[in-house]
Amino acid sequence: ALVASRLTREDDDSTFARGGIQMTGDDEAVKTEVRVGVEGLIGNTPLMKVKSLSDATGCEILAKVEMMNPGGSAKDRIALAIVERAEADGLLRPNSGDVVYEGTSGSTGISLAMICRAKGYRAHICLPDDTSTEKVDLLEKLGAEVEKVPPASIVDKRQYVNQARARASERNSDDSVEGRGLFADQFENEANWKAHYDHTGPEIYKQTGGKVDVFVTGAGTGGTISGVSRYLKQKLPKLKVVLADPPGSGLYNKVKYGVMFDIMEREGTRRRHQVDTLVEGIGINRVTRNFDVGRPLVDDAIRVTDQESLAMARFLVEHDGLFVGSSTAVNCVAAAKYALKIGPGHTIVTIICDSGARHLSKFWKAVGPVGGELAAVPLEDILNLSST
Ligand code: PMP
Repeated sequence: ALVASRLTREDDDSTFARGGIQMTGDDEAVKTEVRVGVEGLIGNTPLMKVKSLSDATGCEILAKVEMMNPGGSAKDRIALAIVERAEADGLLRPNSGDVVYEGTSGSTGISLAMICRAKGYRAHICLPDDTSTEKVDLLEKLGAEVEKVPPASIVDKRQYVNQARARASERNSDDSVEGRGLFADQFENEANWKAHYDHTGPEIYKQTGGKVDVFVTGAGTGGTISGVSRYLKQKLPKLKVVLADPPGSGLYNKVKYGVMFDIMEREGTRRRHQVDTLVEGIGINRVTRNFDVGRPLVDDAIRVTDQESLAMARFLVEHDGLFVGSSTAVNCVAAAKYALKIGPGHTIVTIICDSGARHLSKFWKAVGPVGGELAAVPLEDILNLSST
């Protein structure tokens, strides 16, 4: 719809390009592209120049608009890839009672629920029982079965990810129930980074004409950063990959120092460094199979404070009318900091993971009201430039 609103006159014979539809001078439409089903809407997302950040830094800051996937995030890509991989391996058969299980309180559940409906499977999502009601409602309205699990540590067998794994194997060991169970396992399932290697990376390469100096993004499962970087580095050996990391995540130390210790431990105390953050979806304290894909891909890391990401989220609305979620704000802080560090004239690509609409009750509540007299704070004032 966005593209369709831009009517461009292509030549003097009054041929117009309107989105994917070619219009001739007498308004005769020629069918050029129909996307088939919800699956057909996944991927091929636009690459957007973020004008405010580009103007303020002198670099071209480009963002892959993953929130324009039909389920609202990049997780559509991996949900589809995980399901298609399992189909190819004979682990899922449509309309035969098979159930896809996942432990997630984030966007992956929404994407899986959507894909499962479209392809004839049931989705069973385990999540902590303090997950916001909006998210639970959304999953239920998409037809997923939702199982709320009391919050527990990752080593506890009742923890929600472990619960999803257990539910899948319970189903597979019970001959009396119809249909098999598949544990989607987004953190360890390598269909995740491969989806970004096969699609997101090549799309960025084509959309930029191969002119990318830096790729900046955060990591949750690590699938996005690994898949995109692995593809782009094969094409562009000089590409720098920069991790954007929120408070409390161990990945920053892993990239900077090679080990996932925290600052307190490095300074000689064994006290566990518990840091809370308003950012959802990125930051983790272990190295997943999707982050570590067998070769070092990440060259540098930038720690982003909540204060910076809250200010960035507001800045993007004020200057660009762009309403993003918390992980996108982290990405944009890191992209802007890196741009100021390397100086003007470079092209930096980052990811718009999802919309602010998914983050109203936590992150955007902390941003506070936007409107009336906008503060229009300069970019440099929202970045703590000593912390790059
Ligand atoms: N942003 C959001 C909102 C997410 O849910 C996630 C995934 N958990 C990410 C970013 C990070 O992507 P990845 O899992 O590919 O590292």
